[in-house]
Amino acid sequence: MKGLVIKNTGSWYSVKTDTGKVVECKIKGNFRLKGIRSTNPVAVGDNVEIALNSEGTAFITHIEERRNYIIRKSQNLSKQSHILAANVDEAFLIVTVNYPQTSTTFIDRFLASAEAYSVPVVLVFNKCDILSDDERHYQQSMIHLYETIGYECREVSAATGEGVDGLHALLKGKITLLSGNSGVGKSTLINKILPEANLRTAEISDAHNTGMHTTTFSEMLELPEGGYIIDTPGIKGFGTFNMEPEELTSYFPEIFHFSKGCKFSNCTHTHEPGCAVLKAIDDHYIAQSRYQSYLNMLEDKDENKYREAY
Ligand code: GDP
Ligand code: ZN
Repeated sequence: MKGLVIKNTGSWYSVKTDTGKVVECKIKGNFRLKGIRSTNPVAVGDNVEIALNSEGTAFITHIEERRNYIIRKSQNLSKQSHILAANVDEAFLIVTVNYPQTSTTFIDRFLASAEAYSVPVVLVFNKCDILSDDERHYQQSMIHLYETIGYECREVSAATGEGVDGLHALLKGKITLLSGNSGVGKSTLINKILPEANLRTAEISDAHNTGMHTTTFSEMLELPEGGYIIDTPGIKGFGTFNMEPEELTSYFPEIFHFSKGCKFSNCTHTHEPGCAVLKAIDDHYIAQSRYQSYLNMLEDKDENKYREAY
């Protein structure tokens, strides 16, 4: 029987089978995925095969190949990773221009890392109900910038519900990762999108407060229209490390576009003669803030070799 892993408590996996039934499963044997040293071989979002046993539970006997997966590197010396989620279709990055202000550096890092994983991102500007005129203006300029590059943007207020209905069409039938800095309103937004989730988000924060070990706990919240929201504590973005300049360039779509005109194919767009990217910045085709984020990531390259993912 085939199914989708929707919850992982560390010892049990909840698998929603093709018939719509949720079966509690354990892992059979000691199988490991090639190339990943992971503390958990199965993650939410995994498509699996299960074999039912007489008690109504089941064993996971096979994991289908993943399109992508998100890992958290362990903090200890074992260098093992914990897979937080697999087969993500899209990410909503929740940002706020104030209370707190999400930096463009943070946004651009997230976007570049999502490009590396080929995960489309929707920028969701939250807290639109409390914007001053200046903040509204600034938000409009950000939306203009990111839409021009090709990223979808939405303006919402999780508090009043404004704009939240429009998110459902984007969520339908997909596995969506919800991400963003702490305080931007992720929990409030999930509760607005999915009022039934109230109880479950409360459970998660309770577990957190009592110091319970939450790192092995992941869950996908099912949407009435089909699709899932990944509600996993601790996901701040996708890991991107140790990239060569050419690779990094390809994760900034507009920089990549202009880089085709650079004189040297290995141009880093920092000092080279005949650099079409530097010219595009001068001509205001590429935003300074985006270029600055590119430079920051370029400078981080060596440091990243030694840094943990999250
Ligand atoms: P999280 O850390 O991203 O999960 O953020 P929370 O959902 O806990 O929200 C942080 C704070 O921002 C809370 O006090 C929320 O009530 C508030 N908040 C969330 N969304 C909005 C919004 O759209 N407008 C306003 N004014 N406040 C919001
Ligand atoms: Zn160049």
